[in-house]
This record gives sequence, C-alpha cells and structure tokens, in this order.
Amino acid sequence: MTSNNGYVYLIGAGPGDPGLITVRGLNCLSRAEVVIYDYLANDSLLSHAGKNAELIYAGKIGGAHNHEQSQINNLLVQKALDGKVVARLKGGDPFVFGRGGEECEALKAAGIPFEIVPGVTAALGAAAYAGIPLTHRDITTSVALVTGHEHPAKENSEIDWQRLSLGSGTVVFYMGVKNLQQITTNMIDHGRPPETPVALVRWGTRPEQEVLIGTLADIAAKARKAGFKAPAITIVGEVVRMRDKLRWFDSRPLFGKGVLVTRATDQAGEFTALLEELGATVWECPTIQIVAPESTVAIDTAIAELATFSWVIFTSINTVQHFFTRLHALGLDSRALGSCKICAVGPKTAAAIAQHGITPDMIPQSYKAEGVIEAFHSMELAGKRILYPKADRARDLIPKALGEMGAEVTDPVAYRNILPEDVPPAILQALEERKIQCVTFTSSSTVDNLAKLLGENRFLHLLEGVAVAAIGPITSKTCQEMGLKVAIEPSQYTIATMTDEIVRYFSSLHSNEEK
Ligand code: SAH
Repeated sequence: MTSNNGYVYLIGAGPGDPGLITVRGLNCLSRAEVVIYDYLANDSLLSHAGKNAELIYAGKIGGAHNHEQSQINNLLVQKALDGKVVARLKGGDPFVFGRGGEECEALKAAGIPFEIVPGVTAALGAAAYAGIPLTHRDITTSVALVTGHEHPAKENSEIDWQRLSLGSGTVVFYMGVKNLQQITTNMIDHGRPPETPVALVRWGTRPEQEVLIGTLADIAAKARKAGFKAPAITIVGEVVRMRDKLRWFDSRPLFGKGVLVTRATDQAGEFTALLEELGATVWECPTIQIVAPESTVAIDTAIAELATFSWVIFTSINTVQHFFTRLHALGLDSRALGSCKICAVGPKTAAAIAQHGITPDMIPQSYKAEGVIEAFHSMELAGKRILYPKADRARDLIPKALGEMGAEVTDPVAYRNILPEDVPPAILQALEERKIQCVTFTSSSTVDNLAKLLGENRFLHLLEGVAVAAIGPITSKTCQEMGLKVAIEPSQYTIATMTDEIVRYFSSLHSNEEK
C-alpha cells in the first residue's frame, strides 16, 4: 500500500451514448486529477472530469500495439505513485475485451489501490439500440460474447467453433469486421444453418450508428460491398429478426441529423429536449448571453417604491429572474409586491412567478406586447403607476400605449442581452466536419450574433449546405439579408411548430432522395 493516496478508478464509459455511463462512473470521473481515455470512450464525457484534470489519450501512448498496453500500465502506475487520483476511462465495460484485467494486475503488483466501475458493454448497448434482444423466451436462452480478433486461420483456435455454432443461442463477436468471411464460414462449417440472420452494428448507440442485416451466408459479401468498417459488433442468431418489430433508435425522424440551437443557454433546454426526443444530435451554441444591467440604480429605485405601483408587468422568465435577483439583493422578498397586482405574459412567465409564491392576477391571451395592451384596455388607468421591468433592447410599445391610457409607466432595464465571447471550439469543429445539417434561429439577434461571432465570410462558408430554420418572417428576413436561404419557416412562431417543420423538411428530403 502506498502512503501518498494515489488511487485508480477503472471506469467503463459505456458504448458511446454519453448517457450510458453509470452514476458511479460519472462520480469517480469527476474526482479524477488524471484521465487516461480510450478511442472508444465518448470524448464528451471528458467534460465531467475534475476541472484541471490532465487528459491523456491512450491511443497516443507508445508505438506498436503490444507496447502500448505495457506503457499504459506503466503510466497508470506512475501517475498513482505521484499521488494522483487517476480515472482510466475505457469503452464499454473494462472487463469485456478491454484488457482491464491486465491493467489491474499491474496495479496490484505495484501495490496501488483501485476500484472497478462496470460499464454497458458494446454487445448490450448496440443490441439494445438496434432493437435486437440478445435473449428472448421464445427464441433463445443463451448468449456468448466472443472475440473476432483471433486470427481466423489459426491452426489451434482457442474458440471452440463446434460448441459455439451449435451450443450457444445468440453469438456476439467483438472486433470481427475484418475476419467476417472466416467467422461466418467457420460457423456454417460447424453446423450453424447458412440462413441464420446476422446483424452488424457499427458505432452502436451513437448518432452515427449503422446497421447491416444479412445471413451467415451473405453478410460478409454485403459488408464488403457496403464498405462496412470497424468498430462494429456482429450479432448472429434468430433474435436478429426481432429488429423488424423492435427497431426504435435509428428509425426516429431526426436520427443522424445534427441540429444547431443558437438560443441563450437558459432558453435552449426545452428546444433541445424536443429535438433529441426525435433522434437529433443537438449542438447548443448560445449566441445571446443574458446578464445584469450595467447599472441597477433604476430597477433598485423602482423596487424601493414598489408600494406605490398598482401593477407590475412581467413579459418573460428573464425579467422575473432578474427582478427577483435585485429584490433579494436589497434584502426583500415576495412580500414587497404585496400591494401590487401582477400581469404575466404567457404561461411560462406565470410559472416563473409562481415559483416565488405569487399567482398572477392577469395572463393576457396573446403573448405579444399587443396582447398586454389589449388586456389593459378596459381598465381605468388614469393616475395609476405601472412597473414594467424590461430587457435593454425591448420595444417601447407597452409603456407608450399604457401611457396614452393615462398610466404612469416606469420601465427600468432588468437585464441585458449581450454577445458571448466566442463560439465553443466543439461547435466550430462540428460545423467544419459537416456534422450539422440544420441551423435554427429563433430571433433576428441570433442570426446577427452568430454572424458576428463567426465573422461574415466564415458564417456563410460554414453554413453552406446547412438547412436554415427561422422561427418567423422577421427572422427569415434577417437570414436573407445575411445571404442565407431559408429552408424552414413554421406558420406559428413557436418552438414546437418549428420542430414539426424541421421533421417535415427532412422526411420530404428523404422521400425525394428515395425516388
Ligand atoms: N471493452 C469494450 C470492448 C473493447 S474491444 C466493451 O465492453 O464494449 C473493441 C470492440 O468493441 C470493437 O472492435 C467493436 O467490436 C466493439 N465496440 C465497441 N464500441 C462499439 C460500438 N459503439 N458499436 C459497436 N461495436 C463496438
């Protein structure tokens, strides 16, 4: 036992979908000071490592394949001896064809304490996401996980082909793409019927997942013809037929489509969730950052005079949040609004106010400024004070109209929209690598700001061939002025309708391609 607290977590990262790491795995990863990760572990998990953690890609260590492993073992030992908490992040499960056993042996020999966190191995992950149950009460009662990496012509194969072909129900080969011809021939030669269905699943559980279906007799030729490449697992058995019925992941309407969401971070969540449910891979690139006003004097003064206002109008979640931030900063709480009536524009704003224990007195039908004005129309406003906390660039429709009705409107800035510092590097890379097929703009400023962030030329270059979705005619016009062609514009200006239109766009594209 070392005295300096070096420790190694051997963590199964799961098969690719970052959501498939275990809670324990994520927890250990967040404690790591050094992360040594593999090709097959999803890179996006690295953002969960400790803040200043050293990230080492195991593929870069050493040269020839066999050297690599001993050098990885040495590195693990060395980092732990330096007193570091090390996470060894491996694709799938560490103990299924992962050489995790060898790494543990090296740690044990060096007296370094370790912990093993299991993961969802590729066979389980890829089968689930391909809609193929590895066992099924009516079809098969057993499953074998086998390496397909062994040289297939090897004289004394360690694989008992006879037993494997006849004894086991479902057989899943790892690392078998290259040897597929020999593997399938071996199985047929040892008694498995040539018509047995086979599925190849490449990059299972990821947006790039590809599935090829055939039989023992023809899958190798099919794979050659399609140029099918590693990493993939090969599933052999009658259960493969179940995919026809159970396919769910790669049949979703936006499967394999990358969509860029340009809304402010705190507004992107709902849109992202909708798109992801439909199978899209969403990239969030906030083009608007919402921050406190430069000076809080105006809003603070209004808060100090709250008792003199008859109404307070909140038009967005942001105004609610920033108003209450100031209220609390001044040592007050919801009771300071006790004598005011509250108008909330839209159900989401109403819900945000409800979180502060307040039920709005009025929720206008239409969510636009015009709706607010309409709602106040029948009221006697002469001499009444109305507080309208606003965004720095809000239109002045509301104060003007209510003023004309006789009210005295105070409209302090509650928050500002500013341009973020840059586009996250991962987004730039995704755009450059053409992983994004659709860009969404939910306001004119998202268009302007993305162009500013990227620079106009790069903006046009990176969005070439990317379907542009704009939420309404004003946003579309801004897109066109910037030189973009708008492919998708919903008839209603809501996120839900926009999402429907994106689905429609891609499915009509698909059916045209198939014609
Ligand atoms: N320890 C890993 C396996 C490592 S061996 C695990 O438990 O999953 C590497 C092989 O795993 C690849 O050649 C491929 O056959 C398989 N594999 C890993 N991730 C995969 C994925 N997302 N889809 C299909 N096969 C995968």
